[in-house]
Amino acid sequence: MGRAKSLPPTAGLSATAIRIPDAVSARFSHEYAAPSPQLFVHEGARQSLERRLTAASPGTPVSVSVTDNTHAMITHRYEGGVLRVRVHHMFLDAPANVQEALIRYVIRGDREASVLISRYIETNGHRVARRSRHIKLNPRGQHHDLLDIFQQLNDRYFDGAVDACVTWGKRSHSKLTKRKSIKLGSYSAPERLIRVNPALDRSWVPRYFVAYILYHEMLHHMMPSTRSENGRSMLHPPEFLEAERDYRYYERSLAWERGHIGRLLRS
Ligand SMILES: [Zn+2]
Repeated sequence: MGRAKSLPPTAGLSATAIRIPDAVSARFSHEYAAPSPQLFVHEGARQSLERRLTAASPGTPVSVSVTDNTHAMITHRYEGGVLRVRVHHMFLDAPANVQEALIRYVIRGDREASVLISRYIETNGHRVARRSRHIKLNPRGQHHDLLDIFQQLNDRYFDGAVDACVTWGKRSHSKLTKRKSIKLGSYSAPERLIRVNPALDRSWVPRYFVAYILYHEMLHHMMPSTRSENGRSMLHPPEFLEAERDYRYYERSLAWERGHIGRLLRS
């Protein structure tokens, strides 16, 4: 039996996501997540779900990761022959019939299963992190619209799974000391917020470069830092650097940065 036969018709072409209602409007409301305790993943439960999914998709390895997303509850995609499934942690201790529905939904796109799953998500709404504290977000710059770029990147590279907010950072007014370095972007996990340095909101900064900075920070949202064997936390583990190279204009962006860093520092 060829491996392709075990894949549903949409394999490799599209990915699906189960979202809680009003995902689009809520995602970009001017609020951000209250700091929440670190997500504790029950590794045994994760592996058990991964094993059951693997058993249900003969010939295709399955990898399961667990999220604390606020909108994308289940996403899956085929990538390099591997079925990558991301599920909210509420599914790790879901009743057996819900886990079975999850498997049918992911492997076969079963409609009845998705109804059952939606009902389970509704009754577990209290477990979805809330965005409560208010902060003014300012994603629309004078030259670059971060929200627009974010949405394009999210669709193209992440199947819409990035569940973070984005804003231009605050301008620093101190011109007294010459800058020696500049932080072009940052990601705050407790706030689920990506900040981009307003120095990039210029007509001479190409859109693909702003997108590169955003893409990098979106990867931080998707790949929390890991700990190496000696206990040091690794912000950019090898998988991160590999994923970064998937960005279409990666080389071009690095070259542009080399050519313009002086101008950015003076801006
Ligand atoms: Zn980084």
